[in-house]
Amino acid sequence: MQSFFYFAAHMFNFFKKNKIVVAIDGYSSCGKSTLAKDLAHKLKYVYIDSGAMYRAVTLYFIWNKIDITNTSQIEDALKKIDISFKRRRGHNSCYLNGELVENDIRSAEVSDQVSEVAALSIVRRKLVTLQQAYGVSKGLVMDGRDIGTVVFPLAELKVFVTADVDVRAHRRYSELKNRGNEIPFEDVKANLEKRDHIDSTRSDSPLRQAEDAVVLDNSNLSPAEQLEAVYKLTKMYL
Ligand code: C5P
Repeated sequence: MQSFFYFAAHMFNFFKKNKIVVAIDGYSSCGKSTLAKDLAHKLKYVYIDSGAMYRAVTLYFIWNKIDITNTSQIEDALKKIDISFKRRRGHNSCYLNGELVENDIRSAEVSDQVSEVAALSIVRRKLVTLQQAYGVSKGLVMDGRDIGTVVFPLAELKVFVTADVDVRAHRRYSELKNRGNEIPFEDVKANLEKRDHIDSTRSDSPLRQAEDAVVLDNSNLSPAEQLEAVYKLTKMYL
């Protein structure tokens, strides 16, 4: 009997110490990247922005004038694309074939075309495989559109973030302005609505809430408040 309790306690501790995968999904500019970054920092986990990967592929297609209706051109291009993340000034920055592209992938041109590129199954297959590799040793927070539904359907914690569309557009507008990107508010909002529409209506891996996801509406929450709410949820597993 005593050994049974010892074994049970040991298993309990083993699982408590286990690292987990946290999948964060939601509409464009709903604050999920801020949440994912903050949470990864607090848990000392790796943070991966899966949207940056779709943006990097889109940037490569723009730079190399790839016709997104031409499958063999896309296949060839995908073989030449290497995407990586490196810590730079305390943040995870995206590199495309060894070149830092963190700013280029946030341009209006990329934002305008990324959802069409992300709707291509051939592109998704390549990126999902890369994304899954980041989760092998757990200790990962990844944000995107299909992380809880397709990339990590067995993630221990799934969060689906929502916020009012005007709140989201204002956040995105300020973020771009702070980066020196002066885009009219109406254009920023139109881009969000366009991406939300394409992302949630595409046939391959449409954006939707996983059945077992916790919904977090952060319209009236500060970054610190949303972090606290989700950090509390992770405690169940740690
Ligand atoms: O997260 P972010 O807004 O930077 O993502 C850019 C675009 O990449 C999204 O609008 C969506 O089209 C695509 N995306 C996706 N699946 C993901 C992450 C992003 O289709 N997991």
